Amino acid sequence: MALVIENLCHIYNAGEPFEAVALKDVNLRIEEGEFVALIGHTGSGKSTLAQHLNGLIKPTSGRVLFDDKDINQKDSKENFRFKIGLVFQYPEYQLFDESVKKDIAFGPKNMGLDENEIDLRVKKAMATVGLNYEEFSEKSPFELSGGQMRRVALAGVLAMEPSVLVLDEPSAGLDPRAKEFLLQDIKHLNEQGKTIIMISHNMDDVARFAKRVLVMKKGKIVLDGTPSEVFQNIEEL
Ligand code: ADP
Ligand code: MG
Repeated sequence: MALVIENLCHIYNAGEPFEAVALKDVNLRIEEGEFVALIGHTGSGKSTLAQHLNGLIKPTSGRVLFDDKDINQKDSKENFRFKIGLVFQYPEYQLFDESVKKDIAFGPKNMGLDENEIDLRVKKAMATVGLNYEEFSEKSPFELSGGQMRRVALAGVLAMEPSVLVLDEPSAGLDPRAKEFLLQDIKHLNEQGKTIIMISHNMDDVARFAKRVLVMKKGKIVLDGTPSEVFQNIEEL
């Protein structure tokens, strides 16, 4: 189940005086089980690319295919948002429910799963991110530390059991301990077979965790290789 991007272009506010060309003819193929890091300066198009991967924003032109199917095909019965999970930058700002448990259950509920299955998935997702069910399930997400909130947000995406996980700067703003905890979780998910696409500005994290690095510049992918290959060539940019 590869994720394929073909000739992807995205222009915000096309035709307006303040239009922004965010992606310019991006082509990419990511195989199942890869751990890919996406790096580049602010404004290079990383978040725009991430948000195309699960159909949250639509291409101006070009296609995104998962398992050979166009994820933006109108008549598709499959919901690709459940298969390709997107964890936003600062996802804790999107927590909203009165309890941790209900917040994590939101995605699985939208999938139309029955109560038992939802409960199972909430428990499993909490265990995966290291949140004790007895201790945290009834707590308000807003009583938690930053690192715990981040883990609740990740659990909410994991509870949909996506096969691809796209994370936009997952460790930004966390203290070193919470950051390490989260990165180890992500690594573990990859070892269990999930495809990981992680935006990061931390080169140490990229070198430690990713097996492939993509560098974006002004809406294009300008380097694509192993961490050592990319770091050797990055000076030239
Ligand atoms: P990155 O995540 O690498 O910092 P973004 O994808 O956020 O880059 O931004 C790429 C370009 O698109 C930038 O020029 C940015 O200003 C512009 N952009 C991003 N989001 C929006 C938006 N919602 N509306 C208009 N322009 C945007
Ligand atoms: Mg961004």
